[in-house]
Amino acid sequence: MNIKSNKPVCVTGASGFIAGHIVKELLERGYRVRGTVRQRLENYPFLLSLPGARDRLELVQADLLAAGTYDQAVAGCEYVIHTASPYQINVKNPQRDLVDPAVIGTETVLESCLKSDKVKRLVLTSSIAAITDQPESHKIFTEKDWNIISSLDRQPYQYSKTLSEREAWDFIMAKRPRFDLVTVNPAMVIGPSLSPSLNTSNKMIRDIMSGVYPGIMELNWGFVDVRDVAKAHVLAMENDSASGRYLCSAETIDMRHLVAILKSSGFHHYALPKIDLSGTAGTLLMKILSFTQPKDIGMYIRLNIGRTMHLDTSKIRRELGLSFLPIKQSIIETVKDMEKWGHLSPPKH
Ligand code: NAP
Repeated sequence: MNIKSNKPVCVTGASGFIAGHIVKELLERGYRVRGTVRQRLENYPFLLSLPGARDRLELVQADLLAAGTYDQAVAGCEYVIHTASPYQINVKNPQRDLVDPAVIGTETVLESCLKSDKVKRLVLTSSIAAITDQPESHKIFTEKDWNIISSLDRQPYQYSKTLSEREAWDFIMAKRPRFDLVTVNPAMVIGPSLSPSLNTSNKMIRDIMSGVYPGIMELNWGFVDVRDVAKAHVLAMENDSASGRYLCSAETIDMRHLVAILKSSGFHHYALPKIDLSGTAGTLLMKILSFTQPKDIGMYIRLNIGRTMHLDTSKIRRELGLSFLPIKQSIIETVKDMEKWGHLSPPKH
């Protein structure tokens, strides 16, 4: 293996669904990696057993809310990939549980990069959530768009991602550091997980397969495979001319299409939604029923139902040369992986 550099690449939140794949991709490409985690290091056997990890992966502890804890993590690194941020829907206290760790954490990581004289680039995992609060059927979103609607009371996760990305760009404008900033803004990320935990976006597919949704609703999502998101981060890091934001989504598909893929791929025995609630009457009914759901899920349904998401992903394809795995393959592999980890079991007859 050709070792790329003696300087490690720092990946924050290495335990996460996306970050685990970034660590794997970096190791496969011959990089040394320094990952930050929150718990005792031996709690991450799925990272420590990756090919190349024994010689080229170091784990260190850091917390987004503990000032200065990333100084040691970024020391000596030319590249920092900042993925750590809470990804949860339905939190008790959105300011404490989402916004503070996202925004203060991003500032903390930026300050640590500023203190180091080695960092050349920070690649930040932002989100489509920083592009828009909700789909607009007659608009194609690009990297020029910013979410200006979310708030603590309206989609607080989206708000936390918007504020943290803004924080990063404002920091670069104000402090003019030696390093530059590139953001990757993925849509809904699905795919096989390296760890036993179930990510929020894969859980949405599990919910669709386990009877949580009463019927097929007029909802649609931009999907992207986690392995492509990992590649996007590494390409954004490696490519000198990469700049600005990169929308990262393979394909937008609606719930009817998603259910059809699941049915035709051997998963028809799951509790997939059967009733068609995708017309005007169904959408109205679902908006009413959404008030019986937990607050943030109900709000998500009301803000998204009946609207179509259009995303222009030409920049990432053109500038980073990224091509995407077919989303049908990702969906099938996501389900098989959830079965493997025991997150999904076929209903007994
Ligand atoms: P994830 O698996 O939940 O990963 C989140 C990571 O952030 C974990 O490593 C977690 O550490 C860490 N973290 C959370 N709070 C922290 C704190 N206070 N201090 C230090 N670390 C903390 O979610 P993910 O999907 O991989 O998300 C990674 C990034 O991608 C996030 O920035 C998310 O907003 C973004 N994103 C995700 C999606 C998606 O569909 N999954 C789409 C667009 C953008 P622990 O393991 O210790 O909890």
